[in-house]
Amino acid sequence: MRYALVTGGSRGIGRAISLKLGEMGYHVLVNYVSNEAAALQTLSLLEAAGGSGELLRFDVGDKEAVASAISSWQQAHPDAYIEVLVNNAGIRRDNLMIWLEESEWDTVLRTNLDSFYHVTRAVLQPMVLKKYGRIVNVASLSGLKGLPGQVNYSAAKGGLIAATKALAQEVARKNITVNAVAPGFISSDMTDGLDEKALSKDIPAARFGRPEEVAAVVGFLASKEASYVTGECISINGGLYC
Ligand code: NAP
Repeated sequence: MRYALVTGGSRGIGRAISLKLGEMGYHVLVNYVSNEAAALQTLSLLEAAGGSGELLRFDVGDKEAVASAISSWQQAHPDAYIEVLVNNAGIRRDNLMIWLEESEWDTVLRTNLDSFYHVTRAVLQPMVLKKYGRIVNVASLSGLKGLPGQVNYSAAKGGLIAATKALAQEVARKNITVNAVAPGFISSDMTDGLDEKALSKDIPAARFGRPEEVAAVVGFLASKEASYVTGECISINGGLYC
């Protein structure tokens, strides 16, 4: 069995990525933090499509929780390793800088960027030993362009893109690729309160994207065929370039 871990796999983009990796034959570890009903629904959808998976609950920003969940899983599966990691879990807490609370800065950096360090560190060594791995980080247009009201989120996603490029160069010789995707506006719970009609006027494709459209690109980057693509950040934004 081949294993993939999708952080924040319970809803939205992470759910679509979990289903895509299931379709590609991976046993998917679906991570979530609080919404167990949604995580169980992802699992049901995976199984209904002929795939398999299991839930792995932990807070990606909590160093001890990540280490403990992944080492317990590894102990229960001594002969297995996670060959695909998708760092997808993320949150936003938008505010203009003059009002941006320290807690809003901390929680966004912790969940969107510290999480990359905690989770990737926990799964990287087995990939290096097995000389194969695929790491895909879900960044954002906000991390490329910077968006007003998102100084915290832009900083976290920009940091994630830079970390992607640096790590890619460290592990390329071990047949491990590290890439990022930068979605624009994608319909999900995260964009639920936004005025889609008004915002779509600035998008050449004139609509928000669908989670499946992000999952298709992540699926390619996670595939064996993408073996010579590394350190890249692919925009998925309907033409809404920086
Ligand atoms: P979403 O619908 O709000 O789903 C967020 C997912 O992340 C959920 O599965 C949630 O788990 C999980 N999560 C949140 N905090 C977590 C934590 N501390 N530990 C573990 N899991 C956690 O968001 P989405 O739109 O699918 O976004 C997915 C990723 O794409 C994020 O990194 C986001 O920044 C990025 N992105 C989204 C858009 C967009 O337009 N939607 C654009 C660019 C980038 P629970 O279900 O347990 O809460």
